[in-house]
Amino acid sequence: MLKEAEEHLRQYFGYDRFLDGQEKIIDKVLQHKRVMGIMPTGGGKSVCYQIPSLIHDGITIVISPLISLMKDQVDEVREAGLSATYINSSLSYEETRDRMKGLQNKEYSLLYLAPERLGHTEFLKQLKNVPVSLIAIDEAHCLSQWGHDFRPSYMDIPKFLDFVGKDISVLALTATATPQVATDICRALSIPDEDVVKTGFARKNLTFSVVKGQDRDAYTIDYVKKHRGQPGIIYATTRKEVERLHQRLEKENIQAEKYHGGMGADERASGQERFVYDEVDVMVATTAFGMGINKSNVRFVLHAQMPRNIESYYQEAGRAGRDGAESDCVLLFAPQDIQTHQFLIDQSRLDDQRKENEYQKLRQMVNYCHSEDCLQNQILSYFGDVAEEPCGICLHCTDNRSLQDVTRDAQMVFSCVKRMRERYGKTLVTQVLTGSSNQKIRQFRLNTLSTYGLLKKQPQKNVTEFIDFLVAHEYLALSEGAYPVLKLANRALDVLQGKAKVMKKETLVAKTTFNEDPLFEEMRQLRLSLAKQHEIAPYMVFSDQTLKELCTYLPESEPEMLKIKGIGQQKLETFGHEFLEVMKRYKTEAQQEKV
Ligand code: ADP
Ligand code: ZN
Repeated sequence: MLKEAEEHLRQYFGYDRFLDGQEKIIDKVLQHKRVMGIMPTGGGKSVCYQIPSLIHDGITIVISPLISLMKDQVDEVREAGLSATYINSSLSYEETRDRMKGLQNKEYSLLYLAPERLGHTEFLKQLKNVPVSLIAIDEAHCLSQWGHDFRPSYMDIPKFLDFVGKDISVLALTATATPQVATDICRALSIPDEDVVKTGFARKNLTFSVVKGQDRDAYTIDYVKKHRGQPGIIYATTRKEVERLHQRLEKENIQAEKYHGGMGADERASGQERFVYDEVDVMVATTAFGMGINKSNVRFVLHAQMPRNIESYYQEAGRAGRDGAESDCVLLFAPQDIQTHQFLIDQSRLDDQRKENEYQKLRQMVNYCHSEDCLQNQILSYFGDVAEEPCGICLHCTDNRSLQDVTRDAQMVFSCVKRMRERYGKTLVTQVLTGSSNQKIRQFRLNTLSTYGLLKKQPQKNVTEFIDFLVAHEYLALSEGAYPVLKLANRALDVLQGKAKVMKKETLVAKTTFNEDPLFEEMRQLRLSLAKQHEIAPYMVFSDQTLKELCTYLPESEPEMLKIKGIGQQKLETFGHEFLEVMKRYKTEAQQEKV
């Protein structure tokens, strides 16, 4: 049967070989076992139930938490030639009834289902007449209260499994399970230890960076400008922050959409659609955005603030590069983010034990931001995965910025904070150091301090940034509240006494990554227009990775085109011809230029 699975992989999905873990999982599923697959985002989890759905006699039910994702998922597998449908609350009574009939008549082999349905007696009654072979549970971590995205409706799944019968295969899938969460899932679904298939968690096409002690807005704007033409998500912690950042970008003439829970459903949906359909490159959003999209060509995910734990971070950052092409994940850290999350946890309705659990996760997130080790490997070890060597591409693995001794400047800042009795905020400290003489300074007689004007040769902006750096590296602390006040931390005392030095790396600048290949650009345009014709998202036509391979190998015929990764029989028939035309023209033009 595995041979058959391999043939389906080639024919429907256009891939020659299984990815790590896929074969093992499919083999177990075909043997009617209960299996758990823990694979990273982009690891190819969907194929693990889609291929069995082609082989099994009965239907495959896929339980998936987000309604907005379902239509896309179904469109996507239909493009590949599978017969699929979905049932959730967005359908009318008649539509649901027709689809249930279709299922009874074996018109579909795949059914995507919202977990809320599992409690409907009417649905369960109708399902009695549908032969089911496999139940796949996507985002299975939603089952665990220790996970970062617990959903009460997932608690109905074990009962549902009893309802459909004992000998049906079950496949739980997740990309973000800590060992604790994995154990929880296995217990709830009666999955034996030996049927847990865990692949490496590493995402080899993602480069991780943490940017600290810099002006975050300036970095973000610079970054987006340098990545023109590339789809990316900017995550912010609060709605207010999304609004603010979105406005900032617009002021810079950067086109961006926004998404957060405070917006109307229509406005949210249209923004999301423009982003998914490649009509606008940048999406500024709270973490409410993303679970509901499957867009595979997200080239960067930039976190404008630190997320609350590593699970959320890896899941959000992991939305970059699902197609396997190189992508960036940048986290902009500032110490006040810690206070924001502490506040949010504190205000939450969690019980004490779970609050403590959240605080602990937050501390691990902060450690990630402060460490100097390989960033990818730190994430892996959080998930209980051991990496043999550093990733080689993250900021820490490639950092060759030189170190500067800034001890003297730091001492001046520290003594100024001390002279000001640790009672003022960043702005006033900067003004004193640069010798500005506004009314407030005169009123508080701060111009009489011995540290007044010590750094007057430097622009205020540089001094502010330097203070940010000192805060980020915990020489200075900011008090809580609406008007945070600068205080000296223990590290600063050592520096003041000459016992320790302060070393600073050069400021981190974003790298430019325009796409300079005119053929790739032309193919992207063709993909966009075909997508519009077929009313699907561009990445469903072909992924960025497939376009890149086409640009590299320039196939000249349909059989040659079938050898390209991601091109199966049905897609070849639907889209092959027009891409072949573009490549042919390109080749002729290139040859004419040579002559
Ligand atoms: P996940 O759900 O694990 O995040 P997906 O199922 O969306 O991942 O798959 C991610 C990408 O990998 C998709 O573009 C998919 O077509 C591709 N893919 C799946 N299986 C293979 C394979 N065997 N070889 C190459 N690419 C694959
Ligand atoms: Zn690394």
